[in-house]
Amino acid sequence: MSELNELYQQVILDHNKSPKNFRKIENATKEIEGYNPLCGDHIMLYLLMDGDVIKDISFTGSGCAISKASTSMMTAAMKGKTIEEAEKLFENFHAMVSGDDNDVDKNALGSLKVFEGVKEFPARVKCAILAWHTLHAALEGQEEMVSTEGDEI
Ligand code: ZN
Repeated sequence: MSELNELYQQVILDHNKSPKNFRKIENATKEIEGYNPLCGDHIMLYLLMDGDVIKDISFTGSGCAISKASTSMMTAAMKGKTIEEAEKLFENFHAMVSGDDNDVDKNALGSLKVFEGVKEFPARVKCAILAWHTLHAALEGQEEMVSTEGDEI
Protein backbone atom coordinates (compact mmCIF):
# COMPACT_ATOMS: atom_id res chain seq x y z
CA MET A 1 0.00 0.00 0.00
CA SER A 2 1.89 3.01 -1.25
CA GLU A 3 -0.32 5.56 0.52
CA LEU A 4 0.39 3.94 3.83
CA ASN A 5 4.10 4.00 3.10
CA GLU A 6 3.88 7.73 2.65
CA LEU A 7 2.99 7.95 6.31
CA TYR A 8 6.31 6.53 7.22
CA GLN A 9 8.26 9.52 6.14
CA GLN A 10 11.85 9.71 7.20
CA VAL A 11 11.13 12.00 10.12
CA ILE A 12 8.72 9.47 11.59
CA LEU A 13 11.22 6.67 11.14
CA ASP A 14 13.94 8.74 12.76
CA HIS A 15 11.84 9.56 15.81
CA ASN A 16 10.77 5.95 16.12
CA LYS A 17 14.38 4.84 16.10
CA SER A 18 15.72 7.56 18.39
CA PRO A 19 12.78 9.06 20.28
CA LYS A 20 13.25 12.36 22.07
CA ASN A 21 12.59 12.54 25.81
CA PHE A 22 12.27 8.76 26.10
CA ARG A 23 12.95 8.47 29.82
CA LYS A 24 11.22 8.70 33.15
CA ILE A 25 11.18 12.00 35.10
CA GLU A 26 11.91 10.91 38.65
CA ASN A 27 10.48 14.05 40.29
CA ALA A 28 7.50 14.36 37.92
CA THR A 29 4.59 16.44 39.18
CA LYS A 30 2.17 14.47 36.98
CA GLU A 31 2.24 10.92 35.62
CA ILE A 32 -0.49 9.58 33.37
CA GLU A 33 -0.97 6.45 31.33
CA GLY A 34 -2.31 6.40 27.78
CA TYR A 35 -3.55 3.32 25.92
CA ASN A 36 -4.76 2.68 22.39
CA PRO A 37 -6.33 -0.81 22.47
CA LEU A 38 -6.91 -0.78 18.72
CA CYS A 39 -3.19 -0.95 18.02
CA GLY A 40 -1.65 -1.77 21.40
CA ASP A 41 0.15 1.56 21.82
CA HIS A 42 0.82 2.05 25.51
CA ILE A 43 2.60 5.05 26.99
CA MET A 44 3.41 6.58 30.34
CA LEU A 45 3.68 10.35 30.17
CA TYR A 46 5.65 12.33 32.76
CA LEU A 47 5.30 16.06 33.38
CA LEU A 48 7.29 18.43 35.51
CA MET A 49 5.22 21.59 35.88
CA ASP A 50 6.55 24.93 37.09
CA GLY A 51 3.40 26.93 37.75
CA ASP A 52 1.57 26.80 34.44
CA VAL A 53 4.72 26.06 32.41
CA ILE A 54 5.68 22.59 31.20
CA LYS A 55 9.25 22.64 32.47
CA ASP A 56 9.98 19.07 31.41
CA ILE A 57 8.03 16.31 29.67
CA SER A 58 9.00 12.75 28.86
CA PHE A 59 7.56 9.32 28.14
CA THR A 60 8.18 5.61 28.33
CA GLY A 61 6.29 2.68 26.88
CA SER A 62 5.90 0.90 23.59
CA GLY A 63 3.88 1.21 20.44
CA CYS A 64 3.92 1.40 16.67
CA ALA A 65 6.18 3.79 14.75
CA ILE A 66 3.47 6.41 14.35
CA SER A 67 2.54 6.55 18.03
CA LYS A 68 6.14 6.58 19.15
CA ALA A 69 7.16 9.28 16.67
CA SER A 70 4.11 11.37 17.51
CA THR A 71 4.80 11.12 21.25
CA SER A 72 8.47 11.96 20.71
CA MET A 73 7.68 15.01 18.59
CA MET A 74 4.93 16.12 20.95
CA THR A 75 7.26 16.12 23.94
CA ALA A 76 9.82 18.14 21.96
CA ALA A 77 7.15 20.64 20.91
CA MET A 78 5.58 20.97 24.38
CA LYS A 79 8.66 21.52 26.49
CA GLY A 80 8.68 25.11 27.80
CA LYS A 81 5.09 25.82 26.74
CA THR A 82 2.45 27.26 29.03
CA ILE A 83 -0.75 25.29 29.56
CA GLU A 84 -2.57 27.74 27.29
CA GLU A 85 0.01 27.35 24.50
CA ALA A 86 -0.04 23.58 24.94
CA GLU A 87 -3.84 23.43 24.63
CA LYS A 88 -3.71 25.58 21.50
CA LEU A 89 -1.16 23.23 19.92
CA PHE A 90 -3.28 20.23 20.96
CA GLU A 91 -6.32 21.74 19.26
CA ASN A 92 -4.38 22.44 16.06
CA PHE A 93 -2.88 18.95 15.94
CA HIS A 94 -6.19 17.27 16.74
CA ALA A 95 -7.97 19.23 14.01
CA MET A 96 -5.25 18.45 11.47
CA VAL A 97 -5.19 14.66 11.98
CA SER A 98 -8.96 14.36 12.22
CA GLY A 99 -9.33 16.19 8.90
CA ASP A 100 -11.39 18.98 10.44
CA ASP A 101 -8.68 21.41 9.48
CA ASN A 102 -10.30 24.58 8.15
CA ASP A 103 -9.14 26.58 11.14
CA VAL A 104 -5.80 24.89 11.63
CA ASP A 105 -2.76 27.13 11.90
CA LYS A 106 -0.38 24.88 10.00
CA ASN A 107 2.57 27.21 10.46
CA ALA A 108 2.25 26.77 14.21
CA LEU A 109 2.52 23.02 13.76
CA GLY A 110 5.93 23.12 12.04
CA SER A 111 7.40 19.65 11.54
CA LEU A 112 4.30 18.09 13.13
CA LYS A 113 2.72 18.53 9.70
CA VAL A 114 4.24 15.15 8.73
CA PHE A 115 1.27 13.60 10.53
CA GLU A 116 -1.28 15.27 8.27
CA GLY A 117 -1.47 12.13 6.10
CA VAL A 118 -2.91 10.02 8.91
CA LYS A 119 -6.32 11.65 8.46
CA GLU A 120 -6.80 9.24 5.54
CA PHE A 121 -6.40 6.30 7.91
CA PRO A 122 -8.92 6.40 10.80
CA ALA A 123 -7.22 3.59 12.73
CA ARG A 124 -3.90 5.43 12.51
CA VAL A 125 -5.39 8.69 13.77
CA LYS A 126 -5.65 7.06 17.20
CA CYS A 127 -1.97 6.11 17.09
CA ALA A 128 -0.99 9.69 16.23
CA ILE A 129 -3.33 11.36 18.73
CA LEU A 130 -2.83 9.09 21.76
CA ALA A 131 -0.03 11.10 23.40
CA TRP A 132 -1.83 14.37 22.70
CA HIS A 133 -5.04 13.26 24.36
CA THR A 134 -3.03 11.91 27.26
CA LEU A 135 -1.31 15.27 27.75
CA HIS A 136 -4.59 17.16 27.34
CA ALA A 137 -6.19 14.98 30.04
CA ALA A 138 -3.22 15.47 32.37
CA LEU A 139 -3.37 19.25 31.96
CA GLU A 140 -7.06 19.11 32.83
CA GLY A 141 -6.22 17.31 36.05
CA GLN A 142 -7.22 13.78 35.05
CA GLU A 143 -5.25 11.04 36.78
CA GLU A 144 -6.83 7.84 35.51
CA MET A 145 -5.68 6.13 32.32
CA VAL A 146 -6.59 7.73 28.99
CA SER A 147 -7.95 5.29 26.41
CA THR A 148 -8.66 5.97 22.74
CA GLU A 149 -11.56 3.54 22.89
CA GLY A 150 -14.15 6.28 23.30
CA ASP A 151 -15.96 7.75 20.31
CA GLU A 152 -14.78 11.28 20.93
CA ILE A 153 -11.19 10.53 19.97
ZN1 ZN B 1 -0.32 2.41 16.82
